Amino acid sequence: GFKCGIVGLPNVGKSTLFNALTRAGIEAQNYPFCTIDPNVGVVPVPDPRLDKIAAIVGPQQVLPATMMFVDIAGLVAGASQGEGLGNQFLAHIRETEAIAHVVRCFEDQNVVHVAGEVNPLGDIEVINTELALADLETVEKALSRATRAAKADKEAITFKNLLEKMGEHLDAGKPARALALDKEELKSLQSLHLLTSKPTLYIANVAEDGFENNPWLQEVEALAAKEGAEVVPVCAAIEAELSQLEDTEKEEFLAELGIEEPGLNRVIRAGYKLLGLQTFFTAGPKEVRAWTVPIGATAPQAAGVIHTDFEKGFIRAEVVSYEDFITYQGEQGAKEAGKWRLEGKDYIVQDGDIMHFRFNV
Ligand code: GDP
Repeated sequence: GFKCGIVGLPNVGKSTLFNALTRAGIEAQNYPFCTIDPNVGVVPVPDPRLDKIAAIVGPQQVLPATMMFVDIAGLVAGASQGEGLGNQFLAHIRETEAIAHVVRCFEDQNVVHVAGEVNPLGDIEVINTELALADLETVEKALSRATRAAKADKEAITFKNLLEKMGEHLDAGKPARALALDKEELKSLQSLHLLTSKPTLYIANVAEDGFENNPWLQEVEALAAKEGAEVVPVCAAIEAELSQLEDTEKEEFLAELGIEEPGLNRVIRAGYKLLGLQTFFTAGPKEVRAWTVPIGATAPQAAGVIHTDFEKGFIRAEVVSYEDFITYQGEQGAKEAGKWRLEGKDYIVQDGDIMHFRFNV
């Protein structure tokens, strides 16, 4: 699954944002890979390349790639000790592959702030502390198992030492992802599914006029820069309004706001990137469609996203890059220009590739 969890303290705008994301969303019944859960939204990934390809091919239908957002409510101070929804909340985060952390950077007398005042850095610390404490508990359990095993087994000693190092790091309130580890170490910790090892971005929920000269936003940006994390500023209230409009009204509202596209598009793209995903296309008269694969996927793996039989019986992939497809106005033109390739099973898919698979049944 390609799931990005939305976390944050209560009343920061998580649900507002989630609802806006899913209102523009896709009928979940068409996507059998996802269990239907009111907190899981299947969201189309906005990609202007799709329309450009479709303009050349003229298909009956155009289908975007999708990703999932999960609204994870219930994190409060003490959650790792079972306050609020506590463990249930943590279990939901464990099932995601990336985390979008919503931070309140707007003032509104009508919206109570759980800590009494707007304080994004304080809020971030509360959440990070809870996640780090939950991880610390996981690491301590694993450590006591490893300590017993280490009496009989040399390999277990290495693991025990690693757990001790991670334990100290978490105990200092730092996220697991900030500890520099080599490949082997990362691999041996994988089974613990540490919450703070997941890639994270910040969504700064700002007021309508809060995109510039907003000290709260600047604080979040400074913190994120230190962590090497991305910040996506949005105004959830505007996104909620936009998501309820029909296309023409939406265009007018966007023009009024002086922006080209809803802020949600930036949220979705940032989530997609955070998950380490990229897009390849299939293009035929019936359908032009965007598909998702992890960066680094091979051609047979890409084929497998469409159908498991395509992966099992994979022979070759016909490939044209997106740029060549546009420059030479489609597959035929690309072929004539020598830009059409036959690739084998070791080919690493490139973002934007337009692919056609040859396979045995
Ligand atoms: P959650 O608890 O984090 O899911 O927060 P909600 O999405 O339920 O929002 C809490 C309250 O804040 C609701 O009354 C929202 O209408 C309000 N709210 C959310 N986003 C914004 C925003 O961008 N501006 C303002 N003024 N209010 C917002």
